[in-house]
Amino acid sequence: MNLIFLGPPGAGKGTVAQKITDDMDIVQISTGDLLRGAVKEGTELGIKAKEYMDKGKLVPDELVIGLLKDRISKEDCKNGFILDGFPRTIPQAEALDNSDVEIDKVVNFNVPDELVIHRITGRRICKECNAVYNIYPDCDPNPKEKGKCDKCSGELYQRDDDREEVVMKRLKQYKEQTEPLVDYYKEKGILANIKADNPLDEIVEDTKKAVKS
Ligand code: ADP
Ligand code: AMP
Repeated sequence: MNLIFLGPPGAGKGTVAQKITDDMDIVQISTGDLLRGAVKEGTELGIKAKEYMDKGKLVPDELVIGLLKDRISKEDCKNGFILDGFPRTIPQAEALDNSDVEIDKVVNFNVPDELVIHRITGRRICKECNAVYNIYPDCDPNPKEKGKCDKCSGELYQRDDDREEVVMKRLKQYKEQTEPLVDYYKEKGILANIKADNPLDEIVEDTKKAVKS
């Protein structure tokens, strides 16, 4: 099964993806993680992408589309995948339509802006395995041990672009460039809306139901 998770930054796309991929025997593909990997390795693409990411802007379509196509062609994607953070523009969605990839369902995570800002500023990521955590007690999941990944004991860090001033820019560009994809996929008849300001376990169950229907 091939899925797209749509929604503003901080909506919980990655967290839910990480909770359902094992059960569904599919892989999570986060273009954000792929780009941060390229930045860390210092590749040519990473150097170009960093300029945009630091400012809360989208990386140019041609760079992201190439990266995504490359990732999707790998053997571990044969059973299916969740695209988390892709597509983010109409041209990216069209590139997917024009490839030989069939998308079964698009899950749209609906969350009010103020909650997104709260979740993002408390977000922490594992340096080793990219697992997502949060430092605020009202967010989910909290690491069992402060600053350490439950799964691999890796160190948790805060993303540079999760600072409030950059988050506001990312939200603005989400509304301008990515939100139009909600109607794009609604018209195709494959959109499922999820109330994503609920407790995490409920969202995970709602998502599983939505992709089966
Ligand atoms: P996205 O992938 O959509 O940008 P994340 O999955 O990284 O968002 O979630 C943003 C932050 O909110 C993370 O720190 C995560 O731990 C937290 N979070 C995600 N879903 C929930 C939820 N349902 N309730 C509380 N906190 C959540
Ligand atoms: P994310 O981890 O999904 O929040 O993405 C972090 C940053 O990576 C975004 O703010 C963009 O700068 C860049 N990015 C990730 N995915 C895409 C995409 N599909 N198109 C353009 N830029 C992207």
